[in-house]
Amino acid sequence: MIAGNWKMFDGPDPIALRDALDGLDHVVAPPYVHLRACVQAGLTTYAQNVHWESEGAFTGEISAPMLLALGVEGAIVGHSERRQYFGETDTTVARRAEAALAAGLAVIACVGESWEERESNDTETVLRIQVEAIGDACGSHGRLVLAYEPVWAIGTGKTATPEMAEEAHAFIKSLLDAPVLYGGSVKPDNAQELLSRPSVDGALVGGASLDIDSFVALCRAGS
Ligand code: PEP
Repeated sequence: MIAGNWKMFDGPDPIALRDALDGLDHVVAPPYVHLRACVQAGLTTYAQNVHWESEGAFTGEISAPMLLALGVEGAIVGHSERRQYFGETDTTVARRAEAALAAGLAVIACVGESWEERESNDTETVLRIQVEAIGDACGSHGRLVLAYEPVWAIGTGKTATPEMAEEAHAFIKSLLDAPVLYGGSVKPDNAQELLSRPSVDGALVGGASLDIDSFVALCRAGS
């Protein structure tokens, strides 16, 4: 799976992107206001977050039934930007993932360590806590995919080496039986090497998914 997280950017024109993808497997996660246009263009569309309740007084949130009614197929949960800037915790990530799966959405649940945690040899401890929270809530579910996104590699141009990614992915898979995407400054020129590792099942791509040519190149590398 190659999934493009557009974050809070408008992203490419959905119809131009669909035409350029020409049937290649892909997932796009645009801002909420562009979900409908992406679905209508025929793109495989995920949301960037989802709440655990189906409706209620939760200003700024969106529910799984609302997304499904729009034709959205899945949601990202626990992205490090949500954890860093919006108070997302392992508990709320697990609740979001569990509810989304129960409602019928696919889920990409993100985990990953900070640079300080890696430097102090705490990578496995951090990953264990994050993955176990998701695993305890969801088990290994056919629609659940994890994304290993070392926080220090997101939007920084720094990429984990293929060996670092492989080691982390193998560890994550030892905790929970699920496909694991790599995320962190994936670009067309480093994708092939990362994707060729046995435990790397795809990529979650931020910046490079905003450009049609680079996203198509990544989807081609993934296929
Ligand atoms: C992301 O947003 O999940 C991400 C990996 O971003 P980037 O590819 O820009 O590092």
